Amino acid sequence: MSRFAPPRPSLADLGSAPPPAREPRRATTLIHIGARAANAAGDEALADYLMAAWRRLHVASRRAPRCPRCGAGAAFHSTDEGGLPQFQCSGCRQPFTRLTGTPMGRLRLGDKAEAFFHLVSHQITTAEAARRLLIKSETVKHWSLQTRLWLLALDPTGAWERRVLLGVRYAVLPEGDPVKPLAASPACRCAVASDDSDALAEMESPPLLVRVCPACELKAH
Ligand SMILES: [Zn+2]
Ligand SMILES: [Zn+2]
Repeated sequence: MSRFAPPRPSLADLGSAPPPAREPRRATTLIHIGARAANAAGDEALADYLMAAWRRLHVASRRAPRCPRCGAGAAFHSTDEGGLPQFQCSGCRQPFTRLTGTPMGRLRLGDKAEAFFHLVSHQITTAEAARRLLIKSETVKHWSLQTRLWLLALDPTGAWERRVLLGVRYAVLPEGDPVKPLAASPACRCAVASDDSDALAEMESPPLLVRVCPACELKAH
């Protein structure tokens, strides 16, 4: 096996079948699985969409946006820190930047933002992404989750969020459960995942997979 071709997670990674349960969603095992054919080229449109949104959060304009905390439109520019304009709200008096209050607010992507946004559509493990970005695997998981929450905020239809593959987990829906996944919360966007992987195609009765949404992923942390 070449070091450039990491092994894809196989169904053997699933371990034993999940125990029968009254609450199917909680009893499921979160897994990594090759849910789609390898997409070596990645999703350039998604990377471009993320980079454009990322740049909007980092524009040098000193025109104050609305306060993300109280919604007041009476903020003023106070200072620049590391090239990022900082504002002060006249209502709640809190300082903020355009990143404040977004899922990306506390992330320190730095100069890795572009490389990371290019990786989010790849069907690779978080460990492999961590190796390529020279950061910790846990950081990749965190960035991926926050990016998915951000995508849902930018595009509530969820169309862009569904294009993220990095760090996305799938739950096995136990046999006999309704095909429609049970919404765990009003924010839940979990959906039955269509899967065309070879491993599943070879199985007599392949497990039904649910793509775990970022809202549920957040609760599992
Ligand atoms: Zn305010
Ligand atoms: Zn969910």
